[in-house]
Amino acid sequence: MTVQDLLKSHPDWPAVKAIYHTLVAHGYKAFLAGGCVRDALLGKMAHDLDLATDAKPEEVESLFHKTIAVGKSFGVIRVLEENADIEVASFRADGPYEDGRRPDSVQWTSPDEDAKRRDFTVNAMFWDLESEVVVDYVKGLEDLKTRNLRAVGDPERRFQEDHLRLLRAIRFAGQLDFNIEPQTFLAIQNKKSNILKVSGERLREEMTKLLSSKSANRALELLFTSGLQQEIFPYLLKQLTLDLQTVRESWQAWILFFETSSPEQCENSLRTLKFSNKEMNWILEGLKMLHNPSGFFKKRLGLQLEALQDPSVVFSLQELRRRGQAVAQIEVLENAWQSLEHKMPAPFLRGEDVKEILKGPEIRACLQIAYWEQLEGHLKTRDEALIWLQDYFKKRGPA
Ligand code: ATP
Ligand code: MG
Repeated sequence: MTVQDLLKSHPDWPAVKAIYHTLVAHGYKAFLAGGCVRDALLGKMAHDLDLATDAKPEEVESLFHKTIAVGKSFGVIRVLEENADIEVASFRADGPYEDGRRPDSVQWTSPDEDAKRRDFTVNAMFWDLESEVVVDYVKGLEDLKTRNLRAVGDPERRFQEDHLRLLRAIRFAGQLDFNIEPQTFLAIQNKKSNILKVSGERLREEMTKLLSSKSANRALELLFTSGLQQEIFPYLLKQLTLDLQTVRESWQAWILFFETSSPEQCENSLRTLKFSNKEMNWILEGLKMLHNPSGFFKKRLGLQLEALQDPSVVFSLQELRRRGQAVAQIEVLENAWQSLEHKMPAPFLRGEDVKEILKGPEIRACLQIAYWEQLEGHLKTRDEALIWLQDYFKKRGPA
């Protein structure tokens, strides 16, 4: 498939074509830009098709009915067209960076200047939709062929401007399975301590993409050899190699990433990286299970079955089994789950059954035990449960 054909098969293509024609009809230039050009040249479908143009943001806004000024001061306008949401960025040059994150000001400029403000050469190419050729001001094509990730311009300066680029470099090397060009890599090593100035959220997002990338272990090797790992996770002093074959969701990769850490170290990092409470619990629970399966299997079967409602428990059990750990106990649990037809049954007993006799917290405790007995298959019908309850009252003695 040609590059253009690949781009045309993208679901957003009709929208891109319409926006492109409108811009051209008004005398503007427009190219596809950045990641989509890189991916199409590599024969891959990009997630987003982004346009770059010499129209200024106000001009883009005036040409289309529905627009969102997401990053207007940086020249990015989202255009809503044909049920798609396309980023249209004005060619720009970045002014000085004071905060290690964003330029203080930008100027509208030419495509070659715009290419120079982008991070890596393979990310800085344009695709001319009219003549169907690559517009390459930074020798990105050469780097793409040799699978090299190279900073555009002076690498130290580029990493000093925007500290997130340090981690983006490692992430792209993993995602694309590229090498990092030696001068670029040296600059990452020299500038590594700046990574801690990046916000927790942005670190988390990049690290998550890194762990989800095709060559995650290659990225992990670079994360360690660059020194970035030791900066971000100072207690992780060895290179990590993870077997990610059972991983389907990103929080699962994080469980494996933290496996050699203590719960306290893991929790501190999760807080720094601003994980949601939900993901934080999943990761900590999953880790607990990997660290101490026998602690889990000491609990009564009913409790183990209830714990299967937690996706992190399910993930870690699957991971333990793959490693040949706790196989017999996992089998017992699975058989019990199978007997329940893989769903939690409605309880035989309810509050009304006990409220004449029991009060307050006793009610919950009794119903909980009854439910465990039910899950474990000791109580098979409501009648059996009612008989059990009489016995429970008797053993409990008078209140
Ligand atoms: P992905 O497939 O992950 O979306 P992408 O290349 O599209 O990869 P984005 O973060 O979506 O990456 O950014 C789009 C483009 O904007 C990049 O290709 C690059 O040209 C430019 N860019 C993004 N972030 C930066 C940055 N921090 N510094 C310089 N240029 C950047
Ligand atoms: Mg993108």
